[in-house]
Amino acid sequence: MKFNTKVIHAGVHPDSATGAIMTPIYQTSTYVQDEIGVHKGFEYSRTGNPTRSALENSIAAIENGKYGACFGSGLAAIDCVVKMLSPGDEVISTNDLYGGSYRIFKTIFEKYGIKFHFVNMIDIENIRSAINEKTKLIWVETPTNPMMNIIDIKAVSDLAKQNNIWVGVDNTFATPYLQRPLELGADIVMHSVTKYLGGHSDVVMGALVTSNDDIAEEIYRIQNSSGAVCGPMDSFLVLRGIKTLHLRIQRHCENGKKIAVFLKNHPIVDEVFWPGFENHPNHHVAKSQMSDFGGMVSFTLKGDDLEKAKKIVSLTKLFTLAESLGGVESLIGHPSTMTHASIPREERLKSGVKDSLIRLSVGVEDAEDLVNDLSNAMT
Ligand SMILES: *Cc1c(COP(=O)(O)O)cnc(C)c1O
Repeated sequence: MKFNTKVIHAGVHPDSATGAIMTPIYQTSTYVQDEIGVHKGFEYSRTGNPTRSALENSIAAIENGKYGACFGSGLAAIDCVVKMLSPGDEVISTNDLYGGSYRIFKTIFEKYGIKFHFVNMIDIENIRSAINEKTKLIWVETPTNPMMNIIDIKAVSDLAKQNNIWVGVDNTFATPYLQRPLELGADIVMHSVTKYLGGHSDVVMGALVTSNDDIAEEIYRIQNSSGAVCGPMDSFLVLRGIKTLHLRIQRHCENGKKIAVFLKNHPIVDEVFWPGFENHPNHHVAKSQMSDFGGMVSFTLKGDDLEKAKKIVSLTKLFTLAESLGGVESLIGHPSTMTHASIPREERLKSGVKDSLIRLSVGVEDAEDLVNDLSNAMT
């Protein structure tokens, strides 16, 4: 099955009891057993729920993996990955990681004896020199937030395989429509389903996908033992969201490109960060591992004008001021005072997050309306 067919059909079957074409919301905690140990595959909804199972199979299919597992949030999915490790193990991750991922690594898992190294992964040599005999996992995010840095998943995976290390990829920004890390050699794919997979800003959820039997067994053991699962209603909403993933992402990409080009030609804009530009660092990697460049665009203003940036984010009308991304509606954010406010200014500037940096999650509205909205706010 090709991708555009999978989003509609993979993992879902008409309900055997009623013929309902859509997977019902099995809003139940437990399941009647015919006799002790004889049941229809479901015993208790932490362990398994039919609506969640359908979604898990759907997400596994679109990532071209064998196994899927869904969680109460993206961070709950990352929590599960790190719980596969043991005290003394080491993890190498990107230096401009999603803030919540950094926080769970540093403030939750470091005290259990797991060590984290944060390196600039644009250059693979930085990963190579951080590897030692304790390295168990390389955690990649690409494109990154908000600088849109691109990391070569295949090169990282090749390096990891030589050293018997797992590679996990946070594929939230790209989605499997644009990039499928398992096909490039990664062992685990993670999603904040909250973003593009859900796609409508109405659910918080996470997911993991793998094709490795041993990793899958561990994921399901931890999912059931730690219990950070998502509910059937949310699973239903995401099953519905995924059916239009291909259509939405196509439009996100078209609109993202138009906005990026508009910004590049705007007199008050300094730099535009969008992996589709030929001079974007690692543009050639983005071109080879992604089928298009997505709907996330960041930009800075000339003179790094903080006051002007604050004014712009307050003046746009269609681009609404909010955290998060990946919904059908366009959002605007100001990382240095919002998502990245907890990072000391010096550190922030080192990774390129200037005071005037503005991040856009370009939605699927009419592109001309979006350009006009920005244009009005930027005059
Ligand atoms: C939002 C996000 C997360 C965390 O997911 P939640 O669903 O908010 O827990 C992780 N990684 C990236 C790239 C994100 O954008």
